[in-house]
Amino acid sequence: MIRALLLVLALALLPGAGPAWARTAEGDRVRVLYQAAKAPEAQAIYREMRERRLLEGLRETLSVIRLPRPLTLRLSECDGEVNAWYAPETRTVTVCYEFIQDVQNRAPKDTSPAGVTRHQAVMGPVAQVFLHETSHALFHLLDVPILGREEDAADQLAALILLRLKPAQARQIINGSAFLFASYGAEEKPEKADLADDHGLFQQRLYNLLCLAYGSDERAFGYLVDRGDLPK
Ligand SMILES: [Zn+2]
Repeated sequence: MIRALLLVLALALLPGAGPAWARTAEGDRVRVLYQAAKAPEAQAIYREMRERRLLEGLRETLSVIRLPRPLTLRLSECDGEVNAWYAPETRTVTVCYEFIQDVQNRAPKDTSPAGVTRHQAVMGPVAQVFLHETSHALFHLLDVPILGREEDAADQLAALILLRLKPAQARQIINGSAFLFASYGAEEKPEKADLADDHGLFQQRLYNLLCLAYGSDERAFGYLVDRGDLPK
């Protein structure tokens, strides 16, 4: 399935883009929008993400993909809802300030026992969630056939995009995302109905992410197996 996805995406890349993901003039097909917030907590996140130029960074990452129609990446206040989604009718990926606040609440004050810094534990999942929702958008805009579950495919494509970043950056985002999946996973008490959900369990999503990372570069991600995060 990953190969099929990559093939379709490769067709959307500029010819001659080579193995490194080069920037294209199509980058302006991705619009970014930081929506003003009312709640003080959301306002603080709004300011922080603007200063970090989060959305501009994501636009840069996506600039290698030639989109047939514009896509909007948006940060928004969501009436207290911890959420993120892609809306096909407006071709908009929305991540709520409330989601980022939840991620901040779960992040270590300084550094986790496994060495994940607060910055990584916040920015990693934010990037992963944006890329997961953007993957839904790419499936829609590029008419990508999905052979399995779309939620799994969105996680896989998000991971593939992350693993194409500079190695240190990829490692930080993978470690941060793994921290959040593990945090959610620790609270998960799966019932029968959860097995019928369109998402995998968080523990499964965690292992899938780590497995893709390890499989992409055994040396760079060997520590995941060495310290037992990923079973042999
Ligand atoms: Zn999804």
